[in-house]
Order: sequence, then structure tokens, then C-alpha cells
Amino acid sequence: MKTILRICFIATMSVLMFGGLHLTAQNQSKTTVKPKNIIFMIGDGMGLAEVQAAQHRATQPLNMFTSKHIGLITTHSFDDEITDSGAGGTALATGKKTRNRMIGMTADSVAFPSLLEVFAAEGKSTGVAVSCAVTHATPASFVAKVNSRYLYEDIALQYLQSPIDVVIGGGLKDFNKRKDGRTLTDEMQEKGFHYANVIPDKPIHNASKLLILTDSSHPKSVLMGRGDHLIKATKLAIETLNQNPNGFFLMVEGSQIDFGGHDNNIDYIVSEVFDFDAAVGVALEFIKNNPETLLIITADHETGGLSFPGSAVKGTLRSAFSTTDHSGIMVPVYAFGAGAETFTGVYDNTEIFSKILSLTGLKVK
Ligand code: MG
Ligand code: ZN
Repeated sequence: MKTILRICFIATMSVLMFGGLHLTAQNQSKTTVKPKNIIFMIGDGMGLAEVQAAQHRATQPLNMFTSKHIGLITTHSFDDEITDSGAGGTALATGKKTRNRMIGMTADSVAFPSLLEVFAAEGKSTGVAVSCAVTHATPASFVAKVNSRYLYEDIALQYLQSPIDVVIGGGLKDFNKRKDGRTLTDEMQEKGFHYANVIPDKPIHNASKLLILTDSSHPKSVLMGRGDHLIKATKLAIETLNQNPNGFFLMVEGSQIDFGGHDNNIDYIVSEVFDFDAAVGVALEFIKNNPETLLIITADHETGGLSFPGSAVKGTLRSAFSTTDHSGIMVPVYAFGAGAETFTGVYDNTEIFSKILSLTGLKVK
């Protein structure tokens, strides 16, 4: 009898204890900090093989590898198993599948608001900081609505009409050497933008709107001497946008990992992944003191079909490419900060949009 009582007692205590633990875990997930700021980082063409190639040459773990919340996303577009950066960027920016080469609209040409626009409508500051022309497909997906990504001058014009506050990258010719003869950098200055061709080291005093166009088209590659363009751009964008007490949305793109993939050039890829990962480091520094920030790092697709077949010298990786175009393999998601746990698992690229909206409680108006 005593033994039975003791077993009952132990069982009851166990239920109470484990019940208690369970409740604590539930409470923790319910009290997840609602992100005030979103930093959305896209490595264009950055599949797992590209990240692994960089890690293989690194002396310490890549910043993105310190994530405890990792997911995988599928990247197919509306009309193709293999997405381009137009449909891939649009899926990430608007949560909508579209046809390759389309920007900011559904497959039947209905314009849809991007995360940047949803956040701007809530009184948050917004920006893009990239290592390509700001009129290129990925940044364009957050700002423009066009049925061809190659309408660069139309995309530049849509920056003028956008609620965006901070624009950093190349692409000056699409603003100022135009068929319609307009000088959009002048028109943007009239709208209150501080305009420059060099990325300043510190935020400009009293300037909450920045247009920094460093190159006529794309900035150089890291291998050709781009230097710390993306690191400085990320830092400046964060510091400028963070002046808004309502918070901000920033998209940062490591644009040229994809260019290295198209070239089947492993040194180009690895140098661009390092550069992008250094920009991730800047975002992580910010999160340390600003925990109400969500940082998402992902890719629009893989480029090059990179793999590491056998018959390599021990300790080295032999790189092999299966295409000079994009591939359809899933790409990683590394999340940090407020709500990061929401981004684990295997899901579709369009779900990042809905996950961010449900975490922040914001809606498409
Ligand atoms: Mg891109
Ligand atoms: Zn590409």
C-alpha cells in the first residue's frame, strides 16, 4: 500500500512538474518580443554550397552560422521550377508568386504592396542598401511594380514615387541619363533626399532621407576593388533609419554572389559571400543593443548549380558547376532576434512575408 501511494505521489508530482515546465515553455513563446525593426538580408544566388565554399576558406565561423534558428525555403516561381531574381525578389518582398522577370505584381499583373511599403504605411522608416544598381531586380522588387525587370528607367522613376527613405547602391545612369531627359537625382533632392555619390562614414546631420548612388551601373566586384561598400552602406542605412522611434524596415542585398555563380567563378562567389557575411556582422552588432529587431538572412535562389564532387586533394574542395544559370535547389534562411524561432522548418519563399506580417501584427491595406 505504502509503495502504491509513493508511486502515485511521484506520478502526481511528475505531472505537476512537467505540466509546470510545459506552461513555462508556452508562456515564453507567447511573450516573444514583437519586432519593431526588420533587417531583411538577401544573398542573391546564395545557396548552401556557396555558403559552405566560403566557410571552407574562413578561419572562424561565418556570422550567419551563429544562428540558432535555421530554415530552408523552396524558390520556384509561378511559371518555372527555376526562378529568376525578379520572381524570387517579388516572392520575398510581396509574398506572391509571379512569372519570371516580373517585379512587384502577381502573375496576372496585379500590383501588390511589398514589405517595405507595408512598413512605410505604418510610419516606419524604410530603405535598401545593395551592391548592384538599385534598379536591379532584387531591390526593385521592394520598391517598383513593372512587368519586366529590364525597364530600369521606369524602376528609377518609381523610386521617386516610393515612400522609401534610404537608397544606397549603383544605378545612377537610370536616374540621370534617361530617354525622357529628366534628372531624377534633382527631383529626389526636391523631395527632401540628401544626394551623394560616395557613402559617408556617418549619418548626415538632419538628413532622414538619403540617396547615395556610387556608380553609373553596378559597383565593382570585391575582387576588382569594391572595398567596404556594403558594410558601410548597411551601417549608414541602419543608423539613419533607426532615428525613427517607430522603427524601420531595411533590405540589404549581397547582389554579386549571383554574378560569381553566372561566371562559374568560385573566387568571385566566395569573396562576395564574405562581403555579405561582414554586412551580416554589422546587423548582429545592432541587434545586441536593439533586441526588438528581427534579422532574416536568405537568398532568392542558388546560382551555378555549385557542388563539390570527389577526387579533390584532401583538405580542399573541388568546385563543379552544373549551369551558368540559376538552379532550383532550396536555399537557407538564418534568423536572429525578435521572432527568429518562427523561421525554422521547410517552407516556401512566399511564407517569409506572411510570417513577418503575423509577427508584427501588420496588415496589407
Ligand atoms: Mg539581385
Ligand atoms: Zn542571376
